[in-house]
Amino acid sequence: MTILAIDFETATSAAASACAVGLAFIEDGAVTQRSYSLIRPADLRFDPGNIRVHGIRPHDVLDAPSFPQVFAGFADRLDGALVVAHNASFDLKVLRESLSLYNLPLPRFSALCTVALSRRLWPDSPNHKLSTMAARFGLGFRHHHAGDDAYACATIALEGVQASGARDVNEMTDRLGLRRAVTAQRARAAGGIADRALKAQVRPAGAATKGPFRFTVRGSRGTPYDVLLAPFGLAGAWRLACSCPGARFRSECRHVRALHEGDFTDLVPTEAPAMVHLERFVLERARV
Ligand SMILES: [Zn+2]
Repeated sequence: MTILAIDFETATSAAASACAVGLAFIEDGAVTQRSYSLIRPADLRFDPGNIRVHGIRPHDVLDAPSFPQVFAGFADRLDGALVVAHNASFDLKVLRESLSLYNLPLPRFSALCTVALSRRLWPDSPNHKLSTMAARFGLGFRHHHAGDDAYACATIALEGVQASGARDVNEMTDRLGLRRAVTAQRARAAGGIADRALKAQVRPAGAATKGPFRFTVRGSRGTPYDVLLAPFGLAGAWRLACSCPGARFRSECRHVRALHEGDFTDLVPTEAPAMVHLERFVLERARV
């Protein structure tokens, strides 16, 4: 039986907004394989609060694979596995709702929550947060980096095996009565789950990302000006146009020049999809 620890980070409070996943596979009492991947959420929307937690920004995931592409890399191993997660309800919800968003079937597996495990085995701990448990076991890790979190979670499970005197994670889970069945909600797909994932209809980023995009910059005296990022000419190029008086005389007013240089200081905070396009525009322009 495959045993793997999994950890997701999300772009917003919506479960189907995974922007990173970490995996740590356990074999013969040790972590034998680790992986980490950024994920491009379907609508590229990020909440500032989530960015503060994990530090992943829209431009980090522009070229990242979509959820089905990432899922295809481990879907077959998930089938029939024991999935270990810290606060498993969260990660299972992300998995379930992301699959549902892309109309993919949920594989059949069982789950072990390492928060429940920690409460059971180490009731003396001041709390059972991942960071607290990781410190207890001497792990240095970057909290809310999905790869490190998954590894920390796997380590808790392995420490649990030692503490409980079980033979392995599987036996420990049963002995402590902590196994949770995750049942497929739909009929099993014909063909491999990974194949289905790769063929899944990947929703485009949405009409809101076609542009033009409107921004507001604060002028030196606090006057707000409109800046438009819009397609220009026939060659598929884009350009920034500013509504300030200076822009009437030069193609590059001080506001547009600052944005061209990647200086967003005077930009009024703007929703993520538009920011993604502005950042991409600036990056591509710098490359030419
Ligand atoms: Zn201007």
